[in-house]
Amino acid sequence: MYDFCYSEFLIKFKQLNDSSLIYLSAQVVHCGMKYKHLFFDLDHTLWDFEANSRQTLEEMYESMQLKEKGVYDFDLFHKNYLVYNDKLWERYRNGFIKVDELRWKRMWLTLLDFKIGSEVLAREMGAHFLDLLPTRKILFPYAIELLKYLTQKKYQLHLITNGFEKTQHSKLENSGLNSFFKEVITSESSNSLKPHKEIFEYAFQKTGAKKEESIMIGDSIEVDIQGAINAGIDQVYVNHLHVTPSIIPTYTVHSLKELESIF
Ligand SMILES: [Mg+2]
Repeated sequence: MYDFCYSEFLIKFKQLNDSSLIYLSAQVVHCGMKYKHLFFDLDHTLWDFEANSRQTLEEMYESMQLKEKGVYDFDLFHKNYLVYNDKLWERYRNGFIKVDELRWKRMWLTLLDFKIGSEVLAREMGAHFLDLLPTRKILFPYAIELLKYLTQKKYQLHLITNGFEKTQHSKLENSGLNSFFKEVITSESSNSLKPHKEIFEYAFQKTGAKKEESIMIGDSIEVDIQGAINAGIDQVYVNHLHVTPSIIPTYTVHSLKELESIF
């Protein structure tokens, strides 16, 4: 789909014979693409964070013999972990806790639900999880096809992600996403976090992108969409979970394939 078009009239004269001159006119329509720089979020947008973290925790459940240690139900363990992880990420984004605390406390709080109060085990699990998770490769359906399509259409693709340098680069490398992105902006490298506008401003500077030709594509209303609004650029809300958003983004899609109708 083209984002904007303009038309112009071309007038040509043609000499038919010595005395008559006719003129020909034609309306020519020129179309172009409004957006040039597409800024993607990574986790929960392209890289299936939930499926990958479940797979990682399942493996740890076996290898670290968590059942024998008192974690009697893996599904419950995983469900509770996701809740604590979200809460701690929010506290981290708001500057209330440091990264180290986020990494081990999400395990510690989940273990406490199973009456296991071991900080040593929680720290060991936190470190192990961080080593294993970025090696996972599960992407949302159509991720690779979409990126190939956008690359063919000459869009400049970049990432703005709240993750850490080493972890996010490792995920990109292992899942085969790396080659599609020109710039990868992490919260660690920019010293800021979405939804703060500073990480976007750092991204514009690094990529040379103008705001009016930039758009943010992400799964989180609070982080990606609000962040893009704070930075003054358009947004695509990738609503994989079909939730009702609190604000209306510029565009909303429910699958990656649907993005082809915008770009
Ligand atoms: Mg995300």
